[in-house]
Amino acid sequence: MQQLVILGATGSIGQSTLKVVSEHPARYQVLALTAASNVTAMLELCSRFQPKYAVMANQDAAVELRQQLPARLSGIEVLAGHEALADIAAHQDADIVMAAIVGAAGLLPTLAAVRAGKKVLLANKEALIMAGSLFMQEVRRSGATLLPVDSEHNAIFQCLPASLQQAVSKHQLPADSLAQHSVNKLMLTASGGPFLQRPLHEFASITPEEAVAHPNWVMGQKISVDSATMMNKGLEFIEAHWLFQCPVDSIEVVIHPQSVIHSMVQYTDGSVIAQLGQPDMCTPIAYALAYPERIQTTVPALDFSRMSDLSFCLAEKARFPNLYLAIEACRHGQAGTTALNAANEVAVEAFLRRQLAFNDIARLNEQVLEQMAEQTANDLEHILTIDARARQLAQQQLGAYSL
Ligand code: NAD
Ligand code: MG
Repeated sequence: MQQLVILGATGSIGQSTLKVVSEHPARYQVLALTAASNVTAMLELCSRFQPKYAVMANQDAAVELRQQLPARLSGIEVLAGHEALADIAAHQDADIVMAAIVGAAGLLPTLAAVRAGKKVLLANKEALIMAGSLFMQEVRRSGATLLPVDSEHNAIFQCLPASLQQAVSKHQLPADSLAQHSVNKLMLTASGGPFLQRPLHEFASITPEEAVAHPNWVMGQKISVDSATMMNKGLEFIEAHWLFQCPVDSIEVVIHPQSVIHSMVQYTDGSVIAQLGQPDMCTPIAYALAYPERIQTTVPALDFSRMSDLSFCLAEKARFPNLYLAIEACRHGQAGTTALNAANEVAVEAFLRRQLAFNDIARLNEQVLEQMAEQTANDLEHILTIDARARQLAQQQLGAYSL
């Protein structure tokens, strides 16, 4: 029986994880669930999964949760705050930690799980965008096992030979490991989101409701907006660079609107190996949970008799400037990616509050990136300073764009 901590249990990935876990009660037991502030959702999860610990990032929410827990659940210890999140991620009884907090808030608890040598299932891509180098060094130092949950990275991982998978998950990769294993390129597929065909002159009037309505995947709000601007693919580009120690010029992005192929690996002999499946996160979550085994899920198999065409195209710069900003930031280094991620979090929030036009998200991001990319970010303190400074700059500049 493996003990599981789910950071971000009330979110989209958290819920899918609990779905997979509930189908394998003999394998996994929920040790702890965490959330930001949604007491109602946490109460329901506590009742269904009866964890030992429930952690709310928000102090008031923790007080409320404690008051509302029924007597039969009084054994659940309710904890509060960011330190408690990091402590629970490193808890001595935890075997597996699902890192599914959204945004920069996930960095410290995810890093705590890595430093404690856990098996870490990484959905929180922002942790790698902010601190890829440091994060991966900590994986190697602590002996943690890092498994990608993001569907593209999970697909690429599945398309690699077993020996390379092992080296990736332990970060024991010499600089040119991919080339030594005859890998030529990592090919990230992207759906292109809801606005692949939308005329560019309409971009300024795109609403939050339209942007979060992803054609293929059901996800949290932030990643849905990032998918619509393709910043998500940009962040995934940076994520692939760190996870697989892959040079920037060996990563390619291909738009594939049907989201059947979840990503591919191109080898030097001309072979391309792809992972296919339904657009359902339960598959990569189950793969990461049980790795190196496979466990059953309720995700239906692909029906090829009903799949008429799989199409592919490249991402135009004018339509998806955020993708190209992220690739540029990746070339620049850690300060650039940290600043871009922070600016983007501010911009997406402002867009969701209807304070920023859809096409101004990339403009704001670019402005902040230009001002911050030359800084250095060698350690966690620097990284957190750059993150805070980039947020401040983005907030200041928001005024100039106000709707
Ligand atoms: P979500 O918004 O649905 O859920 C986020 C979770 O994080 C919630 O449980 C929330 O309570 C918690 N949270 C938010 N802010 C917090 C804070 N400040 N402190 C502590 N907890 C906080 O997001 P999601 O779609 O589940 O995505 C989670 C992560 O997984 C993101 O990094 C995203 O990029 C990544 N991811 C998601 C998907 C997907 O299909 N949803 C796919 C690939 C990767
Ligand atoms: Mg993804």
